[in-house]
Amino acid sequence: MTDTAWKHRALERFLRYASIDTQSKEDSPTYPSTAKQFDLLRLLEGELRAIGLADVTLDEHGYLFATIPPTSGKKDVPTIGFLAHVDTSPEMSGSSVRPLVHPNYQGADIVLPDDPAMVLRLSENPALADQIGHDIVTASGTTLLGADNKAGVAAIVTAAEYLVTAREVPHGRIRIGFTPDEEVGAGTRFFDVSRFGATYAYTMDGESRGELESESFAADAMTFTFKGFNTHPGYAKGRMINAIKVAADFIGRLPKGALSPETTEAYEGYVHPYVLNASVEKTSVKLLIRDFEEAGLHDKEALLESLAAETVRAWPGSSCESKIEESYRNMKRVLDQHPHVVEYAREAIRRSGLTVTERPIRGGTDGSRLSFMGLPTPNIFAGEHNFHSRLEWVSAEDMAKAVEVIVNLARIWEERS
Ligand SMILES: [Zn+2]
Repeated sequence: MTDTAWKHRALERFLRYASIDTQSKEDSPTYPSTAKQFDLLRLLEGELRAIGLADVTLDEHGYLFATIPPTSGKKDVPTIGFLAHVDTSPEMSGSSVRPLVHPNYQGADIVLPDDPAMVLRLSENPALADQIGHDIVTASGTTLLGADNKAGVAAIVTAAEYLVTAREVPHGRIRIGFTPDEEVGAGTRFFDVSRFGATYAYTMDGESRGELESESFAADAMTFTFKGFNTHPGYAKGRMINAIKVAADFIGRLPKGALSPETTEAYEGYVHPYVLNASVEKTSVKLLIRDFEEAGLHDKEALLESLAAETVRAWPGSSCESKIEESYRNMKRVLDQHPHVVEYAREAIRRSGLTVTERPIRGGTDGSRLSFMGLPTPNIFAGEHNFHSRLEWVSAEDMAKAVEVIVNLARIWEERS
């Protein structure tokens, strides 16, 4: 099969997957967070069986696993896995998505018809400069597209179809997995690493062609609960302690011009207040803590503790309790122990005729958690752009390159074993 065939197959699949609503939901009592994610999972289950994959299973949590049986005679080729998530972000509507193909892009503005105020411009999207002549897919203006991560799903299914039929490509056993609820930070909650049965894996959920990500943030969440004293405001003199004012004072003490999402980039970490539950008696402030190093997390947490203590001293009679919850850790700590996982991905990208670009992820992926669950999992591009936005786009050519990288990885693992 050629690049062109991969392009058409991946595009045809992507258009079908994108039109299915799979939006996940924050704070849902169920898992997966929304039942509609099964609409796509069941369709994929049928498709994986139809293309001839083995051991196709979809469990009650919404994990769809399947096997590409080995073609290599070598006995010691490790099982590798490819993963993508089926859900789309709760931040933007994902219902009645109308994916539109703009063939042979030449750099002109792309106006999205259902809301002409939505215009995809080359000047605002430098990555479009690499897409001249390509087929660009966008949504129609009122929803996200869901290229995050259905571009990855389409690439994996297309690569699986090729590998299961092209017996001449020597490769070991390969597992593929489609998962729910990544966008609400719960994609790995019930992921059974031993049942998945791969030794190493790759998520196909990155941005521009050629990108490889093997470093993520380390992340904690912190909650400070300030307690005051409430009484009738008409008779409160000398008695009331307003916890809202105490919490506001604490927030006012956070560093200005530094250590925040709006003032940091690259390898800089931050603290980020993002939820306030306020009443006079009790006000809690939730903060995200981010750094690439765990020591950096701990420094920031200690700083916040000391600012909270200062605040309480300034408001006699108030008190404060704090709580730290671990969110995820930098996958690099695990991947550094298995350098060939990332090295083979670089090689696969280069063999696909691309330049490798690596940068730290200022966030986490399912791979950040999986790496610490015993499945080292860096992230590879699927061509996704403008995540969670009405201006989301992907090109068919980039999806075809992602297919090629998967096929090359399958080959390289066999060659080096
Ligand atoms: Zn994603």
